[in-house]
Amino acid sequence: MPAETKVFLCLKDNYGVLVHDPATGATAAIDAPEAAPVEAALKSTGWKLTDILVTHHHGDHTGGIVELKGRHKCRVVAPQAEAAKIPAVDETVREGDTVHVGKLSANVIETPGHTAGHITYWFHNDKLAFAGDTLFSIGCGRVIEGTPEMMWASLKKLRDLPGDTRVYCGHEYTLANIKFAQTIEPGNAALSARAAQAAKQIAERQWTIPTTIDEEKAANVFLRADIPAVAAAVGLAGKPAAEVFAEVRARKNKF
Ligand SMILES: [Zn+2]
Repeated sequence: MPAETKVFLCLKDNYGVLVHDPATGATAAIDAPEAAPVEAALKSTGWKLTDILVTHHHGDHTGGIVELKGRHKCRVVAPQAEAAKIPAVDETVREGDTVHVGKLSANVIETPGHTAGHITYWFHNDKLAFAGDTLFSIGCGRVIEGTPEMMWASLKKLRDLPGDTRVYCGHEYTLANIKFAQTIEPGNAALSARAAQAAKQIAERQWTIPTTIDEEKAANVFLRADIPAVAAAVGLAGKPAAEVFAEVRARKNKF
């Protein structure tokens, strides 16, 4: 049976997501920014929390773990490289590992750059990816612990997933990301279409996620650093993609 998902906001602009296996009743929270919105989402769906799958150690992704685990006795899965910085971890995972949520199955993809040990959970059968603070809708996370080269390599790994993979990310930054992307690719038709779609979604109080890999390839400038027109737009025609990515990311930091 296909996975079901429930998206909700946490803290100021963090996304919380529940992934539910209707066959077994198992339900995972992808990260746990804070406990109360997760509890509210569980109540509204009637699902029972069995797992928390952590993408990285930042407090706005882990702040609710201890309270939720205390109440639900759920399993906490975390990236091996960051487990020491994450509370109440039961299992650690790394590149190539498989995590089961009931009968659902996720591959672990290491996507370092935002943090040194950041991971993405890819539920390949269900065509879902939970990219935390690596890939955002029309954006990407800040490069805090890694290098631009590392982040670019991580983004390329996600770009290589099947185009119809639905991507959930850690923050609602879509409109701001679109505004920035338009400063570099004002003529990108897919980006203009996305701008109109996101404005409509927000006006109708819908979420702007999930996005898809295909949509991001077409409109997310951070995945397009190896396109000659993007390199030229930031004055780096002919330069390596990682260098172009670094310049785009630096401009976004100042935007
Ligand atoms: Zn983060």
